[in-house]
Amino acid sequence: MSETQHRKLRVAVIGAGMAGILAAIRLKQGGRHDVVVYEKADRIGGTWRENTYPGLNCDVPAHAYTYSFAPNPDWSSFLAPGPEIQRYFENVVDNFAIRPLIRFNQAITSCIHRDGRWNIETSGGLHDEADIVIAATGVLHHPSPPAITGLETFAGDRFHTARWDHSVPLDGKRIGIIGNGSTGVQIVSALAGRAAKITHIQRTPQWIMPMPNDPYTDEQREAFRQNPALIDQIRYGEQYTSLVRRFTDGVSDPDSTQMAEIETVCRNNLEASVQDPELRERLRPNYRAACKRLIYSPDYYQMVQRPDVEVVVGRIERVEPEGVRMVDGSLHELDILVLATGFHANRFMRPMTIQGINGADLETFWSRNPTAYLGVAMPDFPNLFLLNGPTGPVGNFSLIDIAERQWAYIEQLIAQVESGKCRAVNLKTEVMQDYDQRRVEAAKKTIFGSGCASWYLDANGVPATWPWNYDAFATQTAAPKLEEFELIG
Ligand code: NAP
Repeated sequence: MSETQHRKLRVAVIGAGMAGILAAIRLKQGGRHDVVVYEKADRIGGTWRENTYPGLNCDVPAHAYTYSFAPNPDWSSFLAPGPEIQRYFENVVDNFAIRPLIRFNQAITSCIHRDGRWNIETSGGLHDEADIVIAATGVLHHPSPPAITGLETFAGDRFHTARWDHSVPLDGKRIGIIGNGSTGVQIVSALAGRAAKITHIQRTPQWIMPMPNDPYTDEQREAFRQNPALIDQIRYGEQYTSLVRRFTDGVSDPDSTQMAEIETVCRNNLEASVQDPELRERLRPNYRAACKRLIYSPDYYQMVQRPDVEVVVGRIERVEPEGVRMVDGSLHELDILVLATGFHANRFMRPMTIQGINGADLETFWSRNPTAYLGVAMPDFPNLFLLNGPTGPVGNFSLIDIAERQWAYIEQLIAQVESGKCRAVNLKTEVMQDYDQRRVEAAKKTIFGSGCASWYLDANGVPATWPWNYDAFATQTAAPKLEEFELIG
């Protein structure tokens, strides 16, 4: 047996959100005990910790938004509310006993490859060395406040949706919400009827996919407990999986019948739901459905027809102490201004100094656009892997499923190093270049590139996303092609 056979590796995971928890559990289940998870905050949960806005829920069916190895019979409804998802992750962390692996309040500031290992520094002054690094930092975690003149002059309360100020009373107030992505739409639905008035300010109308959200009864939950096959019918059954397939087929081919079907459902939803023809036209987008991330809502169109909800479509001139002034001169007086204006989607694990081999520096490597092969690996960053990294699949389906597939792929690469065949695996530069070229060409032809602005687009206006369908992703991540990697001895 050579000296390197069955090497015991130290693995550092960055982030204790959905993907980092997954990695920690899988590493532990694989008998790897030298594992540490660095978490910048004082709690686990990632996006479900940071987003606490009223109406927060996950628009992916709850039973599909669970780890394959931790089904949850107790979901309260078809789409789970955010706080319940946070509790789910807390329970999983305890049930799989990975909390002791997590170092809280330790943002990693640098990760530098030296003498075959990753040298890690944290904001709390810790130093560590790891053989393998898993960057599980999430995508949407740097809020993007809008560049609107006078924002700071607003006399009332004002906050971004991911920094919700729960000390501010909402009932009976005049609340303005800027932004109508998935977040803004959920907030409008939740606050209509509580606020004295809701003003929903939209720069660009959105297509809305109807999505019923029925609560599960006690009897149903008991049935899920007694018979887990009922849960599997939801998460692996034909109804959900064919929806995901049809959706990703449609995204990758805007001329497909699948995309025509999505468009028809969204158009019919608008026509059938909104009675007032003037409001209906105000809400009608002038770009194709699913070009921006589709909004799934059971009740948004119903809510905006309430007398205490106003939809304002147009450009904002400025924010004044009293409220929001539109370019048409109208002033919308408000007590509270909510910025549902999204996130800087190109940050990933940054800010963080990451330096690999051959002079590779992440800032330089990503200076044009963030990219990673299959959303997972980058050349000259050996043994560093990403979960839900750039160019991975995004859309209206479970990112847990995507992360699990990526993890299975990564684990096979880690096994190469453990086996003693090599000390490190390093993606070949030409594989990355070929992938980037093919991906960009395909991405331009997806529905995301069909002519609208969204967080899916990179700085050049090209979708920064997985451009092929779900099956293509599943096939390509099933097993790494070792010839695509340099095995460093
Ligand atoms: P978003 O989709 O990026 O939407 C941002 C909104 O702010 C858009 O309506 C945008 O208008 C508007 N906006 C930005 N700057 C503006 C300005 N200066 N003036 C006026 N309007 C401005 O952000 P998000 O709604 O927070 O959602 C982000 C992503 O989070 C979603 O796409 C989804 O992936 C995820 N999410 C998921 C769920 C779920 O249930 N699974 C729920 C919430 C969020 P334009 O369209 O004109 O740019």
